[in-house]
This record gives sequence, structure tokens and C-alpha cells, in this order.
Amino acid sequence: MKALFLAGEWQEGRGPAGRSFFPADGSLNTEFSTASTEDVAEAISKANQAWQLPGWRNSLPMERARVLYRVADLIERDASRLAALQTRDNGKPLSETRGLVMSAAATARYTAASLETLDAELTNPRSRDLLTMSVYEPLGVVAAITPWNSPIASEMQKLAPALAAGNSVVLKPAELTSLAALELAKLFEEAGLPKGLLSVLPGKGSVVGDAMVKHPLVKKISFTGGTATGRQLAHIAAERLIGTSLELGGKSPTIVLDDADVDIAVNGVIYGIFSSAGQACIAGSRLFVHASLYDSFVQRLVEKAAQLRVGHPEHEGTQIGPLIDEKHLQSVDAYVQQAVAEGGEVLLGGQRLEQGELAKGSYYAPTIIAGLSNQANVCQEEIFGPVLVVILFENDEQLLVEANDSVYGLAAGIWTENYRRAWQLARALDVGTVWINTYKKFSISTPFGGFKESGVGREKGRLSILSYMQQKSIYIGLSDKPDPWCDV
Ligand code: NAD
Repeated sequence: MKALFLAGEWQEGRGPAGRSFFPADGSLNTEFSTASTEDVAEAISKANQAWQLPGWRNSLPMERARVLYRVADLIERDASRLAALQTRDNGKPLSETRGLVMSAAATARYTAASLETLDAELTNPRSRDLLTMSVYEPLGVVAAITPWNSPIASEMQKLAPALAAGNSVVLKPAELTSLAALELAKLFEEAGLPKGLLSVLPGKGSVVGDAMVKHPLVKKISFTGGTATGRQLAHIAAERLIGTSLELGGKSPTIVLDDADVDIAVNGVIYGIFSSAGQACIAGSRLFVHASLYDSFVQRLVEKAAQLRVGHPEHEGTQIGPLIDEKHLQSVDAYVQQAVAEGGEVLLGGQRLEQGELAKGSYYAPTIIAGLSNQANVCQEEIFGPVLVVILFENDEQLLVEANDSVYGLAAGIWTENYRRAWQLARALDVGTVWINTYKKFSISTPFGGFKESGVGREKGRLSILSYMQQKSIYIGLSDKPDPWCDV
């Protein structure tokens, strides 16, 4: 059984054994240790000692950056192995897991470089006898909790800035996909991260995650996952008066205007919803198409999507792998059945795939549904699967009202040749990220996060390190005379 990583030691956890299954055929990959609440308490107590040791707290930014640069190199050294491991663990095709691995390396490197350029600020003093400044201090122990859909990339988005800022981190990966996080811990260890600063504790959210976020020594909750869980954690954080970073769910609109380049838009819309089998927070799951090109566009969309290669995630050329597990497949299918019951017309897919080797795994056909309004349940709730709902719109005013009519506000896509119109729409959409004539493209230097119930706070970007720090203001008196207030 794979050990867990508790404050620099590889050991058996005191929780029940965890299991990793290959979604392509349901076979067991491996068993791994999970943590108990005692393990959580021990890891947090050691993490709280570790971040305060001079070796980390007083280390120079360039010394902390060096660890991250090394981690980036090590991830690249092991990229093929890490991608293969992730594909076994969560079923994404190798082409995607390679991308996630390289993104983790890039995050570590970018964060290291940003750290070296972060300065304290001299502020305007209120008199010439004062020097005033604002410096940044770490927070202490950070509890990081991640979902199953993009392991390694989402984990590094938390580990790199939190550690760079001088904190220690206790990380709980998703119970379905814990292997990549354990591998990351090995690489941090090899890169020379001092003991105690990182623990990786697999286990159930309601046990391990819950114990982490309620521990009095935890000073920030950094969470990526569903909105319902995020809300629960926000309540706990509010009670404890600690900060959160919440990266939550989405129901993102993609919009095809009447002057869109149809070939580019069709491909982009398909990639936006069907890559990762739709298991992406930013999946473009609501498609608004202008009435003037609705019929022809939808016909081309269906023809093209029908050609997608759904298959074994380890085969080169596979575009869509299985869903994470059978339970999730049943949930996706239930949404499709609900759409039909609400009057939706299934234009493509709408069922699991069982031909040949697909019968062994949790494969679901790319699905396109029409004939529903934005009010339909499948347009309001996050399905997290390969299901696209197409909606016709007549004018930009109606479009904006409907596109924004969602509790979520994570992302949106706009397809048009008119950049002035695109700009106006982009500014009016209540979402954290807008893609224009592209979709689901990321750059580590560009902040990411949600409006509304899609989240609180931002990850990525130069300032992500600051979100794991607190400001301290320092006033230095320079006068050589006593304060006149005391003069009698
Ligand atoms: P989830 O909320 O069920 O679980 C996420 C993590 O939280 C897991 O590690 C889980 O064990 C843990 N958890 C669950 N209950 C907990 C509790 N009571 N206390 C502490 N931890 C707890 O989400 P999921 O099903 O793993 O992931 C899918 C969701 O994640 C989708 O809604 C998706 O949109 C969202 N997501 C968002 C982003 C983003 O950046 N906005 C990125 C990826 C995924």
C-alpha cells in the first residue's frame, strides 16, 4: 500500500485504505493510505512548527524560489511517468494529462520568478520625520483541498504560491485521484523542501478535509471543488475568521454571433465542452447561437462532434476518455433524461457507449441537446459531463440577460469577427474569464477565478503569492527631537 506524506515522513495513515481505479476498465491501480483525524492534527501541528523555523521564515525569496525551480525541473524530468500515472488515476487521455503535468511545472517556475520580484512598498509618510512601509508576512498553515478533475495542475496552483509566500501546507487531494499529489510530495522532498512544510493527506472530505479546515492552527483554506462544498467551508472560515480562496463550479455560456467565423467557432465550441469529457469547471456547456445562422451552425456542430474519437485514454489519438466513474456517469445520464423529460431534443449522443472495449469503462457519448430554454434545469445546474445545450437568441440584449441568468459566473466564450461588439459583450458578462475566438486556453500569468457562486479570490498571476500573505505596516520615527505632545 502506498504511504502518505506526513510532515516529511512517508508512513501508513491511520484511516481506512483508499483505492485508485482505472476509469477505462474499472481495474484497481493501487491501494493507498488515508489519514485519520489524528494524522491531520499531527500534520498541522508539525506544519505550524515548520513554517516558523528560521530556515523557512527568514529564508530569502531566492532561496524559496530555488526549491520551486528545482521542482519544476523534476516535474519535467518525470513528465511522461506522471502523465501516465494520472491517466490511470482519472481516465483523461494522455494528451491532456501531459498538458496538466507541464502546466504544473510552469506554475512552479512562474511562481518562483514572481517571488523574486515581489517587493515591500514604501508608502507616503505623513511627515518628513517618518518612514512608512508595508511589508508582507506569511499566514502560517494553509489547508489546501483539491477536486479530481485536474490533479497536479490544481494542486500546484495552491502549493507553489502558498509555499513561496513562506507558509506551510497540508494538502488533501480528492479521494478518487490522490496519486499525483503523492508524487508531487516526492518531488518537493527531492528538491530540498525542508521537512514539515508539506503534508499530503489523502482521505475523505467529510473526515480529513473537515478536520483540516476546523483546526485552530489553520490560517487559510484554499479550496477547489463544488459550490456546495465551498459554501460549507466558507461558513467554517467565517466562524473562525480566516481567509479563503474558493474556486468553484460553473455553467459557462459560449456565444456565436451572426458574423462568427463558423469553422473556427464550431471547433472551439466542441473543444470547449467535450475536451476532458466535459469534466471541467469552465466547460462551455450552454451554447447561444444567433437565429440567423442557428440551423446551419447546429447542423455542422452535430456533424463535427459525431466524428470525435472517444476511446481508451492510453491510445494516442483518443480525444475523449471515460468519465471518472460509474456513479458520475449515472449522474450525467440522469441529467440527459431530465432534459428529455423537460422537452429537450437529443441531436447527438444521449447514452453511454458500450461498443467493444468501451463496455468495460464509464464512457458517455458527446451529447448535444436543443429545444430548451435557459430556464431548463440542465441549463442552470452544473452537469460536469459531455453535455451541450444549444439555445437560439435573437438580439444582444436578450442574449446578455440569458447568458448572465445563472448562479455561476466562471467563464464565457464569444465567437465573432467584430471585436468592438465582442469587447462590449465581454465587459457586460458576469464572469471571471472571457475568451474571444478561442476557448479554454490558459496562461499562468493571467489571474483565474469566478464571479458569483463560482468562487471567491483569484489564483495564478503575479499576485497569487500575496493572497497567501498578510500586510504589515511599519512606521519608523526619524525625528531627533522628543514628541512635542509631552511638552508642558
Ligand atoms: P467536491 O466539492 O465534491 O470535492 C472537492 C474536494 O473537497 C475533494 O477533495 C473532497 O474530498 C473535499 N471535500 C468534500 N467535502 C468536504 C468537507 N465537508 N470538508 C472538507 N473537504 C471536503 O468536488 P468534486 O466533485 O471533487 O469536483 C468537481 C467540482 O469542482 C465541480 O463543481 C467543478 O466545477 C469544481 N472545479 C472548480 C474549478 C475552478 O477552478 N473553479 C476547477 C476544477 C473543478
